[in-house]
Amino acid sequence: MRYYDRLVFELSKPGRVGFSLPDASEGLAALSGIDSRLMRSVPARLPEVTEVDVVRHYTNLSQMNFGVDTGFYPLGSCTMKYNPKVNEEISGVFADVHPLQPESTLKGVKTVYDCLGKSLSAITGMKKFTFLPCAGAHGELTGLMLIREYHLRRGDTARTKVIVPDSAHGTNPASAAVCGLEIVQVKSDASGLVDVESLKPLLGPDVAAIMMTNPNTLGLFESNIKSIASMVHEAGALLYYDGANMNPLVGVARPGDMGFDVMHLNLHKTFSTPHGGGGPGSGPVGVGEKLVDVVDSQKVSGFHGNFAVMLRALAYILMLGRQNVGMVGRLSTLNANYIKESLKDSFKLPIPSVCKHEFVFDGLADDGSDGGSRPGASTLDVAKRLLDFGFHAPTIYFPLLFHQAIMIEPTETESLETMDAFIDVMHKIAEEAKKDPEVLRSAPHTTPVGRPDETAAARNPILKYSFE
Ligand SMILES: *Cc1c(COP(=O)(O)O)cnc(C)c1O
Repeated sequence: MRYYDRLVFELSKPGRVGFSLPDASEGLAALSGIDSRLMRSVPARLPEVTEVDVVRHYTNLSQMNFGVDTGFYPLGSCTMKYNPKVNEEISGVFADVHPLQPESTLKGVKTVYDCLGKSLSAITGMKKFTFLPCAGAHGELTGLMLIREYHLRRGDTARTKVIVPDSAHGTNPASAAVCGLEIVQVKSDASGLVDVESLKPLLGPDVAAIMMTNPNTLGLFESNIKSIASMVHEAGALLYYDGANMNPLVGVARPGDMGFDVMHLNLHKTFSTPHGGGGPGSGPVGVGEKLVDVVDSQKVSGFHGNFAVMLRALAYILMLGRQNVGMVGRLSTLNANYIKESLKDSFKLPIPSVCKHEFVFDGLADDGSDGGSRPGASTLDVAKRLLDFGFHAPTIYFPLLFHQAIMIEPTETESLETMDAFIDVMHKIAEEAKKDPEVLRSAPHTTPVGRPDETAAARNPILKYSFE
């Protein structure tokens, strides 16, 4: 272990300080006016370290973290793309507003919301957006609440079911359940698309909506979307679009034109806000013509949502401009197909058709050497081994349709050279799996922590330093 990989408590030496100020501890209670009975009698057991120890401690911690600013992050169903720093800068300069500021001082802020609403409407084909939801799942819940409100206002009270494809992101059924709706699953067919024949009998007067992602979670475009939309509308239900991963569509196709009535976007995936650290995010919800009257009926958060995220999104869209915005969808699709085609000899490709922004392998290709036996390493082993080469692992064991799923989404922001380097490493790992699978099974070899017991880490997290 490197010296500065130690916990800050382990660096501590009694009496060591990182400042030089007159001792005011005696008079602290008097100075602050706090009742002395409320003051601590024993000093807090804080680490006693110098300034340089503190700086090294935090700088080293920050370097243990893998981010899109440190390397390639091909995480499927999550769009980990590079966020241009200029958008960060603009957000930092202008986001300095207080939610309780008088409205007369917020004309510029209002203009930002208006412009962003118009831009997102142009990109998605929706009529109007609400910016209150603070995350993708929050947007889903809001969208479903709007759908329920729409049906109720028409006196249509029996619609309590939501149809969700088996390939859907886990938040879809979860949001429907939180909204008090019953979830009905629709199967995918052999080509990975929603099975239209299975969908037909599910539609009826008790269905409020179908939630879909297009391209779906396998990265495949639901080419039957137009006929699905007519079927659903004929049955009196609405179409909800999960636009968390809008990347492949930006500037190419619009959910509004496909027949979707309500959708959310993840500004923190597609529109330049970094994500993965737990926020802040934004999941604005857009509605089509039918729901314009209900879009402001659900007050799902205080104030106006996360303004700094809106600023980044607007700056991002305006920086790209009308012409370049069309390259987002095209390049993210081209890059995914490039990696898929380059690796399909080493990894099992269950659905070989052209993909959109992401695709799924089902583990390593069978080892041909002794009559097609199973490969000597699992998807987890491949993911762990990638860390040794400085790449973040793809999404693994999701979607659940394949047992050894490896889901790769390169995004449009990666260069050909970066992708080639990743492809080389993936081939190399596949080679190792044949010749020396133990190297994979014991990976990673270069990270501070190798293979923690993930269940124990989640169930019994150790969040406090024990001074024993
Ligand atoms: C990320 C994601 C969500 C959820 O978004 P959060 O902001 O994490 O709540 C929903 N659907 C899909 C397809 C996603 O990729």
